[in-house]
Amino acid sequence: MKSLVLESPGVLKLTDMQVPEPEPHERLLRVTHCAVCRTDAKMWSQGHRDLRLPRILGHEVCVVPSDSSGRFVVWPGTACGTCEYCRKGFENLCSAMEILGFHRHGGFAEYLAAPADSLVPVPPELPGAIACLAEPLACTLNALDRVGAAPGERLLIYGAGPVGLLMALAARSRGALPFLHEINAEKLARSHDFRGQIGAELHREDRPGDYDVAVNAAPAWETLGAGLRNLAAGGRFCVFSGFPAGDPVPAGLINEIHYRQLVVSGAYGCTRDQMREAVGILCAFREAAQRLIEDTIGLPRVADAFSSILSGMVLKFVVAL
Ligand SMILES: [Zn+2]
Ligand SMILES: [Zn+2]
Repeated sequence: MKSLVLESPGVLKLTDMQVPEPEPHERLLRVTHCAVCRTDAKMWSQGHRDLRLPRILGHEVCVVPSDSSGRFVVWPGTACGTCEYCRKGFENLCSAMEILGFHRHGGFAEYLAAPADSLVPVPPELPGAIACLAEPLACTLNALDRVGAAPGERLLIYGAGPVGLLMALAARSRGALPFLHEINAEKLARSHDFRGQIGAELHREDRPGDYDVAVNAAPAWETLGAGLRNLAAGGRFCVFSGFPAGDPVPAGLINEIHYRQLVVSGAYGCTRDQMREAVGILCAFREAAQRLIEDTIGLPRVADAFSSILSGMVLKFVVAL
Protein backbone atom coordinates (compact mmCIF):
# COMPACT_ATOMS: atom_id res chain seq x y z
CA MET A 1 0.00 0.00 0.00
CA LYS A 2 1.08 3.59 -0.63
CA SER A 3 2.34 5.01 2.67
CA LEU A 4 4.00 8.19 3.82
CA VAL A 5 6.56 7.36 6.50
CA LEU A 6 8.36 9.76 8.82
CA GLU A 7 11.76 8.11 9.21
CA SER A 8 13.42 10.78 11.32
CA PRO A 9 12.70 14.46 11.94
CA GLY A 10 12.45 16.21 8.56
CA VAL A 11 12.70 12.95 6.55
CA LEU A 12 9.38 11.88 5.00
CA LYS A 13 9.35 9.01 2.51
CA LEU A 14 6.53 8.04 0.15
CA THR A 15 6.91 4.28 -0.08
CA ASP A 16 5.16 0.94 -0.59
CA MET A 17 4.42 -1.01 2.55
CA GLN A 18 2.71 -4.24 3.50
CA VAL A 19 -1.02 -3.85 4.26
CA PRO A 20 -1.25 -4.20 8.09
CA GLU A 21 -2.40 -7.48 9.66
CA PRO A 22 -5.11 -6.59 12.19
CA GLU A 23 -4.97 -8.21 15.65
CA PRO A 24 -8.09 -10.19 16.71
CA HIS A 25 -9.65 -7.13 18.41
CA GLU A 26 -8.83 -4.88 15.44
CA ARG A 27 -10.32 -4.17 12.00
CA LEU A 28 -8.51 -3.53 8.74
CA LEU A 29 -9.66 -0.13 7.51
CA ARG A 30 -9.27 1.62 4.15
CA VAL A 31 -8.50 5.30 4.69
CA THR A 32 -10.65 7.67 2.60
CA HIS A 33 -9.49 10.95 4.19
CA CYS A 34 -6.92 12.05 6.74
CA ALA A 35 -6.70 15.68 7.87
CA VAL A 36 -3.28 17.17 8.49
CA CYS A 37 -2.81 18.44 12.04
CA ARG A 38 -0.39 21.05 13.32
CA THR A 39 0.92 18.32 15.62
CA ASP A 40 1.86 16.24 12.54
CA ALA A 41 3.81 19.22 11.21
CA LYS A 42 5.52 19.68 14.58
CA MET A 43 6.41 15.97 14.76
CA TRP A 44 7.92 16.27 11.29
CA SER A 45 9.97 19.34 12.21
CA GLN A 46 11.01 18.56 15.79
CA GLY A 47 9.56 15.26 17.09
CA HIS A 48 7.07 14.82 19.95
CA ARG A 49 6.97 13.28 23.43
CA ASP A 50 4.62 10.49 22.29
CA LEU A 51 6.13 9.81 18.83
CA ARG A 52 7.91 6.51 18.06
CA LEU A 53 9.90 6.44 14.78
CA PRO A 54 9.72 5.36 12.02
CA ARG A 55 6.01 6.14 11.81
CA ILE A 56 3.11 6.67 9.41
CA LEU A 57 1.61 9.86 10.88
CA GLY A 58 -2.04 10.94 10.70
CA HIS A 59 -4.62 10.71 13.51
CA GLU A 60 -7.63 12.59 12.03
CA VAL A 61 -9.05 9.88 9.80
CA CYS A 62 -12.22 8.79 8.03
CA VAL A 63 -12.24 5.11 7.03
CA VAL A 64 -14.24 2.32 5.43
CA PRO A 65 -13.81 -1.21 6.87
CA SER A 66 -12.26 -3.46 4.23
CA ASP A 67 -14.78 -6.26 4.88
CA SER A 68 -18.06 -4.36 5.22
CA SER A 69 -19.90 -1.16 4.49
CA GLY A 70 -20.35 2.00 6.49
CA ARG A 71 -17.94 4.82 7.20
CA PHE A 72 -16.29 5.70 10.48
CA VAL A 73 -13.97 8.15 12.12
CA VAL A 74 -11.43 6.58 14.44
CA TRP A 75 -10.82 7.52 18.06
CA PRO A 76 -7.02 7.66 17.92
CA GLY A 77 -6.41 6.35 21.43
CA THR A 78 -6.36 2.85 22.83
CA ALA A 79 -7.50 2.38 26.40
CA CYS A 80 -7.21 -0.61 28.70
CA GLY A 81 -10.67 -0.01 30.20
CA THR A 82 -9.52 -1.15 33.63
CA CYS A 83 -7.03 1.42 34.98
CA GLU A 84 -8.11 4.15 37.37
CA TYR A 85 -8.29 6.79 34.61
CA CYS A 86 -10.36 4.60 32.30
CA ARG A 87 -12.78 3.81 35.13
CA LYS A 88 -13.19 7.53 35.86
CA GLY A 89 -14.07 8.25 32.20
CA PHE A 90 -10.67 9.79 31.40
CA GLU A 91 -9.83 7.18 28.77
CA ASN A 92 -7.66 9.77 26.95
CA LEU A 93 -5.34 9.62 29.99
CA CYS A 94 -5.20 5.79 30.15
CA SER A 95 -1.87 4.64 31.57
CA ALA A 96 -1.52 2.16 28.67
CA MET A 97 -2.33 4.82 26.03
CA GLU A 98 -1.06 4.24 22.50
CA ILE A 99 -2.03 6.88 19.96
CA LEU A 100 -2.73 6.35 16.25
CA GLY A 101 -0.09 8.17 14.22
CA PHE A 102 2.17 8.54 17.31
CA HIS A 103 2.83 5.07 18.79
CA ARG A 104 0.98 3.14 16.03
CA HIS A 105 0.80 3.64 12.26
CA GLY A 106 -1.77 6.27 11.28
CA GLY A 107 -3.76 7.58 8.34
CA PHE A 108 -1.23 8.84 5.77
CA ALA A 109 -1.51 5.46 4.02
CA GLU A 110 -4.12 3.48 2.11
CA TYR A 111 -4.90 1.18 5.05
CA LEU A 112 -4.58 1.12 8.82
CA ALA A 113 -5.55 -1.28 11.60
CA ALA A 114 -7.43 0.02 14.65
CA PRO A 115 -9.46 -1.51 17.51
CA ALA A 116 -13.07 -2.25 16.50
CA ASP A 117 -14.33 -0.39 19.57
CA SER A 118 -12.53 2.81 18.49
CA LEU A 119 -14.80 3.26 15.44
CA VAL A 120 -17.37 6.06 15.56
CA PRO A 121 -20.04 5.90 12.81
CA VAL A 122 -20.36 8.71 10.24
CA PRO A 123 -23.84 9.36 8.79
CA PRO A 124 -24.08 9.10 4.96
CA GLU A 125 -24.77 12.83 4.49
CA LEU A 126 -21.44 13.92 6.03
CA PRO A 127 -18.57 14.05 3.48
CA GLY A 128 -15.39 12.25 4.57
CA ALA A 129 -13.24 15.39 4.23
CA ILE A 130 -15.41 17.11 6.86
CA ALA A 131 -15.89 13.99 9.01
CA CYS A 132 -12.16 13.75 9.73
CA LEU A 133 -12.40 17.10 11.56
CA ALA A 134 -14.28 15.16 14.27
CA GLU A 135 -11.04 14.34 16.09
CA PRO A 136 -9.69 17.89 16.52
CA LEU A 137 -13.23 19.10 17.27
CA ALA A 138 -13.55 16.41 19.95
CA CYS A 139 -10.29 17.65 21.51
CA THR A 140 -11.85 21.11 21.85
CA LEU A 141 -14.97 19.53 23.41
CA ASN A 142 -12.63 17.88 25.91
CA ALA A 143 -11.29 21.34 26.79
CA LEU A 144 -14.83 22.63 27.33
CA ASP A 145 -15.64 19.58 29.46
CA ARG A 146 -12.66 20.40 31.68
CA VAL A 147 -13.59 24.05 32.33
CA GLY A 148 -17.30 24.09 31.44
CA ALA A 149 -19.01 26.32 28.89
CA ALA A 150 -22.62 26.72 29.93
CA PRO A 151 -25.26 28.36 27.71
CA GLY A 152 -24.82 32.13 27.72
CA GLU A 153 -21.30 32.04 29.19
CA ARG A 154 -18.62 34.16 27.50
CA LEU A 155 -15.65 32.19 26.23
CA LEU A 156 -12.42 33.86 25.12
CA ILE A 157 -10.28 31.86 22.70
CA TYR A 158 -6.68 32.84 21.91
CA GLY A 159 -5.82 32.01 18.29
CA ALA A 160 -8.07 31.87 15.21
CA GLY A 161 -6.21 29.03 13.49
CA PRO A 162 -8.13 25.83 12.71
CA VAL A 163 -8.18 24.67 16.35
CA GLY A 164 -9.30 28.04 17.74
CA LEU A 165 -12.07 28.10 15.15
CA LEU A 166 -13.14 24.54 16.01
CA MET A 167 -13.13 25.57 19.70
CA ALA A 168 -15.49 28.43 18.79
CA LEU A 169 -17.75 25.95 16.97
CA ALA A 170 -17.73 23.62 19.99
CA ALA A 171 -18.64 26.52 22.30
CA ARG A 172 -21.41 27.67 19.98
CA SER A 173 -22.86 24.17 19.76
CA ARG A 174 -23.19 24.17 23.55
CA GLY A 175 -24.86 27.59 23.62
CA ALA A 176 -21.85 29.51 24.97
CA LEU A 177 -20.71 32.79 23.34
CA PRO A 178 -17.30 32.45 21.65
CA PHE A 179 -14.92 35.42 21.22
CA LEU A 180 -11.70 35.01 19.26
CA HIS A 181 -8.46 36.86 19.89
CA GLU A 182 -6.22 36.94 16.82
CA ILE A 183 -3.59 39.49 15.89
CA ASN A 184 -2.71 38.13 12.45
CA ALA A 185 -4.61 39.95 9.67
CA GLU A 186 -4.21 37.05 7.23
CA LYS A 187 -5.78 34.59 9.67
CA LEU A 188 -8.62 37.01 10.33
CA ALA A 189 -9.27 37.31 6.59
CA ARG A 190 -9.26 33.53 6.09
CA SER A 191 -11.61 32.87 8.97
CA HIS A 192 -14.00 35.74 8.17
CA ASP A 193 -16.78 33.68 6.57
CA PHE A 194 -16.57 30.86 9.11
CA ARG A 195 -16.74 33.30 12.02
CA GLY A 196 -19.74 35.01 10.46
CA GLN A 197 -21.52 31.73 9.89
CA ILE A 198 -21.21 30.48 13.47
CA GLY A 199 -21.54 33.93 15.08
CA ALA A 200 -18.11 34.13 16.72
CA GLU A 201 -17.12 37.70 17.56
CA LEU A 202 -13.64 39.16 17.74
CA HIS A 203 -12.02 40.15 21.00
CA ARG A 204 -9.99 43.22 20.02
CA GLU A 205 -8.62 44.56 23.30
CA ASP A 206 -8.28 43.47 26.93
CA ARG A 207 -11.55 43.54 28.87
CA PRO A 208 -10.46 42.63 32.41
CA GLY A 209 -13.04 40.58 34.28
CA ASP A 210 -15.29 40.17 31.25
CA TYR A 211 -15.16 36.43 30.51
CA ASP A 212 -16.26 33.24 32.25
CA VAL A 213 -13.79 31.01 30.42
CA ALA A 214 -10.51 31.52 28.51
CA VAL A 215 -8.68 28.93 26.41
CA ASN A 216 -5.36 29.15 24.58
CA ALA A 217 -5.37 27.67 21.08
CA ALA A 218 -1.95 29.26 20.50
CA PRO A 219 1.28 28.46 22.35
CA ALA A 220 2.38 32.02 23.27
CA TRP A 221 2.98 32.69 26.98
CA GLU A 222 1.16 36.03 26.69
CA THR A 223 -2.10 34.13 26.25
CA LEU A 224 -1.87 32.91 29.85
CA GLY A 225 -1.40 36.34 31.44
CA ALA A 226 -3.91 38.07 29.20
CA GLY A 227 -6.37 35.19 29.55
CA LEU A 228 -6.25 35.23 33.35
CA ARG A 229 -6.64 39.03 33.44
CA ASN A 230 -9.71 38.91 31.24
CA LEU A 231 -11.46 36.36 33.45
CA ALA A 232 -14.07 37.35 35.99
CA ALA A 233 -13.38 36.24 39.59
CA GLY A 234 -13.95 32.50 39.77
CA GLY A 235 -13.34 32.22 36.02
CA ARG A 236 -11.77 29.17 34.37
CA PHE A 237 -8.70 28.94 32.11
CA CYS A 238 -7.90 25.88 29.99
CA VAL A 239 -4.31 25.19 28.89
CA PHE A 240 -5.17 23.60 25.54
CA SER A 241 -1.95 24.39 23.70
CA GLY A 242 1.36 23.59 25.39
CA PHE A 243 3.68 26.50 26.19
CA PRO A 244 7.22 26.78 24.86
CA ALA A 245 9.93 25.65 27.27
CA GLY A 246 12.11 28.05 29.14
CA ASP A 247 9.92 30.88 30.40
CA PRO A 248 9.37 30.90 34.14
CA VAL A 249 5.83 31.78 35.25
CA PRO A 250 5.91 35.08 37.17
CA ALA A 251 4.60 35.00 40.74
CA GLY A 252 2.15 37.79 39.87
CA LEU A 253 0.34 35.44 37.51
CA ILE A 254 0.03 32.67 40.06
CA ASN A 255 -1.19 35.20 42.63
CA GLU A 256 -3.88 36.28 40.16
CA ILE A 257 -5.16 32.69 40.33
CA HIS A 258 -4.95 32.80 44.14
CA TYR A 259 -6.64 36.14 44.86
CA ARG A 260 -9.43 35.81 42.32
CA GLN A 261 -10.09 32.10 42.86
CA LEU A 262 -9.47 31.26 39.23
CA VAL A 263 -9.51 27.66 38.08
CA VAL A 264 -6.84 26.40 35.67
CA SER A 265 -7.13 23.04 33.90
CA GLY A 266 -5.20 21.24 31.19
CA ALA A 267 -6.70 19.31 28.26
CA TYR A 268 -5.03 16.71 26.03
CA GLY A 269 -6.74 14.45 23.50
CA CYS A 270 -10.37 13.37 23.60
CA THR A 271 -12.69 10.47 24.43
CA ARG A 272 -14.96 8.34 22.24
CA ASP A 273 -18.06 10.10 23.58
CA GLN A 274 -16.57 13.46 22.64
CA MET A 275 -15.93 12.12 19.11
CA ARG A 276 -19.58 11.03 18.83
CA GLU A 277 -20.68 14.51 19.88
CA ALA A 278 -18.23 16.04 17.38
CA VAL A 279 -19.69 14.05 14.47
CA GLY A 280 -23.16 15.35 15.42
CA ILE A 281 -21.89 18.95 15.51
CA LEU A 282 -20.23 18.58 12.08
CA CYS A 283 -23.55 17.32 10.66
CA ALA A 284 -25.40 20.29 12.18
CA PHE A 285 -22.80 22.86 11.03
CA ARG A 286 -21.70 21.13 7.82
CA GLU A 287 -21.59 24.26 5.65
CA ALA A 288 -19.54 26.22 8.18
CA ALA A 289 -17.18 23.27 8.72
CA GLN A 290 -16.57 23.03 4.96
CA ARG A 291 -15.07 26.55 5.16
CA LEU A 292 -12.32 25.26 7.44
CA ILE A 293 -10.84 23.15 4.65
CA GLU A 294 -7.97 24.93 2.94
CA ASP A 295 -7.40 22.29 0.26
CA THR A 296 -7.74 18.57 -0.47
CA ILE A 297 -4.36 17.08 -1.40
CA GLY A 298 -2.60 13.79 -2.18
CA LEU A 299 0.16 12.13 -0.12
CA PRO A 300 3.01 13.67 -2.21
CA ARG A 301 1.95 17.17 -1.11
CA VAL A 302 1.92 16.51 2.63
CA ALA A 303 5.49 17.80 3.22
CA ASP A 304 4.56 21.11 1.54
CA ALA A 305 1.41 21.22 3.66
CA PHE A 306 3.56 20.81 6.82
CA SER A 307 5.62 23.86 5.83
CA SER A 308 2.49 25.93 5.18
CA ILE A 309 0.97 24.83 8.49
CA LEU A 310 4.10 25.82 10.41
CA SER A 311 3.92 29.25 8.74
CA GLY A 312 0.61 29.51 10.63
CA MET A 313 -1.39 31.10 7.83
CA VAL A 314 -3.53 28.23 6.56
CA LEU A 315 -6.70 26.37 7.52
CA LYS A 316 -7.04 22.55 7.32
CA PHE A 317 -5.43 20.44 4.61
CA VAL A 318 -7.17 17.11 4.08
CA VAL A 319 -5.44 14.19 2.34
CA ALA A 320 -7.81 12.25 0.08
CA LEU A 321 -6.68 8.66 -0.58
ZN1 LIG B 1 -4.66 16.58 15.61
ZN1 LIG C 1 -6.73 2.52 31.06
